[in-house]
Amino acid sequence: MVLSRLPVARVLCVVLMCFVAVFVLSGCEEKVYVFVNTEYTVSAECPPGCTNTKVDFGDGTIKNGTPIGNNRYQASHTYTTPYDYRQVKCSCDNGNTWHDKAKVVVMKPKMKLEIFGPLILDPNNHYSESRGIRVTAVDPRNGNTFPKFVGTVNIAEDGTSIYSQNGGILPSSITFTASDQGVKTFGVESLADAKVPFTTKPDPAKIKTTNYEVYGGQSLEVEQWVDNNGNGDVDWCEYWVLAMLSNYHTSGSDAEVRFITGLVTHVGPDIWEANTYGKMDWDSTRIKINPAATNHRLDTNDQLTMTVLHESRHVYQSWETNQNVGTDHGDGPDNDDDPRLFFPDGDRLPEQVTYTSANNPNGIQDGVDVGNGDGDHDDYSTVAEPAIEDDADEFMNNYK
Ligand SMILES: [Zn+2]
Repeated sequence: MVLSRLPVARVLCVVLMCFVAVFVLSGCEEKVYVFVNTEYTVSAECPPGCTNTKVDFGDGTIKNGTPIGNNRYQASHTYTTPYDYRQVKCSCDNGNTWHDKAKVVVMKPKMKLEIFGPLILDPNNHYSESRGIRVTAVDPRNGNTFPKFVGTVNIAEDGTSIYSQNGGILPSSITFTASDQGVKTFGVESLADAKVPFTTKPDPAKIKTTNYEVYGGQSLEVEQWVDNNGNGDVDWCEYWVLAMLSNYHTSGSDAEVRFITGLVTHVGPDIWEANTYGKMDWDSTRIKINPAATNHRLDTNDQLTMTVLHESRHVYQSWETNQNVGTDHGDGPDNDDDPRLFFPDGDRLPEQVTYTSANNPNGIQDGVDVGNGDGDHDDYSTVAEPAIEDDADEFMNNYK
């Protein structure tokens, strides 16, 4: 009989001691796991007539038991510090005799960090990359959600400095209340610059909790300059440039800018070349942008806008030079019907007079600065290319 009854009693104790430890004086001591800052209740049974019951919680706290009927008493305590374990004892006779009741392991929850929900680009804030981060307070032993967790969890980057750039957002803390049920979500917003101007996008941000350990031990990595639509281009840049083109094309006040931006049919692929803001391949209607070019991320000094306009102008120039005689756009002398504008290497020039931005290339010579005199375009091997660049710059400066 003894051999069969003892295991049953022990199983009963294990089952009942998950959150409320139940003790009988015959002895039933088990390890009990409780969370820090969470009320832990011990109940004990004493012989009939006991009135001076006590519980020693093992951390210097001794409380009187409160009768709850059927010769049972209970007391509650909240541990505020994690412990490997604390020996909890009960007394039915005012502390004259103590009975070991439980070894209580006081655990801190860990915080599980996950990206939650879709990436959102905010067109009202430079197409910032906004993400949800879900924090779940979990049992460090198994990762199960700890729904009773309340308190403040501090948040920081782990060795990275993504959200401190350009007015990005990372909350320094979040506070769990009872209604959160151990799960809370917060938002981050990134406007990080290139890691290396012109060539390298930013590394992923790493986010951690600082006053609770991260479950799994690894800080959460948050990719930057995401290509969510999978076409190879950085989304913030792609969508921003498309929006710029669309705005000019649909609501530009001037016919020239409306027409020219409407010729651009594709944006991308991104280019990542030193000192290169954008590119346009002749005979195409595609512009290529370098997201990492200096001042592109925030369009500082209208740099991204200028790159878009400049490359769009090249699309127009290409389109113009490929028109057959008689189908020119506009009504003036044109690169393909004015013999002055043919050059030995086959380069041609955009139409001169249809639009006000068009440059007058008459008289330009190889190696001579043209147009605005800034010296940028005088190092080409032909005389046509400086004029093409100068024309694109004039257009860009007119409409930026
Ligand atoms: Zn150019």
